[in-house]
Amino acid sequence: MNQIHYAIIGGGINGLAVARQILLDKPHARVTVFEKEAAVAMHQSSHNSGVVHAGLYYEPGSLKARLCRRGVELVRDYCLTNQLPYDQCGKVVVALAHEEEGRLENIYQRSIANEVPGVRMLEAQEIQSVEPNCIGVSALHSPETAIVSYQIIAQTMANEIISRGGDVLLQQSVYALTQTPNGIEVKLENNQIHPTRFDYAVSCCGLQSDRLAQQSGDEKTPRIIPFFGQYYVIDATARNEVKGLIYPVPDPQFPFLGVHFTKRIDGEMTIGPNAFIAFGREDYAGGHVNLKDMWDYLSYPGFWKFALKNGAATIRESKTVLSPDYFLKEAAKYVPKLRHVAIKPATRGIRAQAMNANGHLEDDFVIRQQGNITHIRNAPSPGATSSMAIGEYIVREIMNH
Ligand SMILES: Cc1cc2nc3c(=O)[nH]c(=O)nc-3n(C[C@H](O)[C@H](O)[C@H](O)COP(=O)(O)OP(=O)(O)OC[C@H]3O[C@@H](n4cnc5c(N)ncnc54)[C@H](O)[C@@H]3O)c2cc1C
Repeated sequence: MNQIHYAIIGGGINGLAVARQILLDKPHARVTVFEKEAAVAMHQSSHNSGVVHAGLYYEPGSLKARLCRRGVELVRDYCLTNQLPYDQCGKVVVALAHEEEGRLENIYQRSIANEVPGVRMLEAQEIQSVEPNCIGVSALHSPETAIVSYQIIAQTMANEIISRGGDVLLQQSVYALTQTPNGIEVKLENNQIHPTRFDYAVSCCGLQSDRLAQQSGDEKTPRIIPFFGQYYVIDATARNEVKGLIYPVPDPQFPFLGVHFTKRIDGEMTIGPNAFIAFGREDYAGGHVNLKDMWDYLSYPGFWKFALKNGAATIRESKTVLSPDYFLKEAAKYVPKLRHVAIKPATRGIRAQAMNANGHLEDDFVIRQQGNITHIRNAPSPGATSSMAIGEYIVREIMNH
């Protein structure tokens, strides 16, 4: 029998979710995942807040709204079936001042439109019934928001792919995908051509997604702009002062959710992440300038249009980068009891955020088709929550089309 052979580039949670979905829907297909690192999920999928977003914020009808809601169901079922940790600790989004309440109401209306279960507004005196040490003028409570380890989920999916007959090839960096009359050719970074010709390919390369797309002849834009997010872990003696997740009302000009208190599945309590331009797409330590990565955005006119429009947010975020104490002070506005808690830096995450040529950050997921090649061009948060729904969407809708 002539088997259909799929190449999946990128062994983050999205690539693995696509590969797994193909094997579920087409058990006779052959699937090969190419991952450039020595293990799966070494980038965004292991450097995030670990939140299973319930779908509060997203424009009703958008891919994010739809795939996040479906993603929650699939992640929850996957964790249950595979006995992976899943803690439905709940979340509050807190308005500190009356000026923020209009924006909070908008989020509430969106959460209703997105059919997020159990969401309700809290008045000031009700907030402590959910988070005993949190203050605010009002809040939105989402009891179904949960936490997980996406790294553990990704590793479990990789094992499942192998047990279903797929291949996960590590340390295989792909340079380009080329459609030839005999199928899709996979050219590796070391100039070698993989011997197999594939029928279909899906590129899920996160921080490198625009480069592989462009090298494969897809459109030049949107481009990935790397925004890092720093986390701090609070002293273990204070971790129980916060029960679940406490978020600010996000700045509508900025696609990031703001510094929040996040309980982690290992029991740690973190604050973060802030959002600031990174000097390298994979610079987790924060000290290594990658000139190629920097040149890519400094030479992109869209970046300068964005920078000109976002001066205030840049100044605000830069203060949190320069001063851990300022960072803590901002977070402690929600939990004053923690104003002087000891904190230590935890690892950074770097967001693969796509920006279009006008300097707008792409708000929705962007998934493009180029012949038999599908490119995920933008899958930032809630991309991990949505991963298995993104897998379903690509396999059942985009590739079937
Ligand atoms: C700070 C931060 C906080 C976040 N918080 C949350 C959250 O709480 N909840 C949530 O739902 N989402 C969150 N996200 C978003 C979420 O982490 C991402 O949407 C998701 O991990 C994206 O998965 P991915 O597989 O697309 O990308 P990645 O995990 O980045 O994987 C891409 C993979 O492709 C590989 N690769 C790249 N180029 C090549 C190549 N040329 N050849 C072969 N392999 C290649 C990389 O090595 C990598 O393994 C957060 C992200 C960040 C950065």
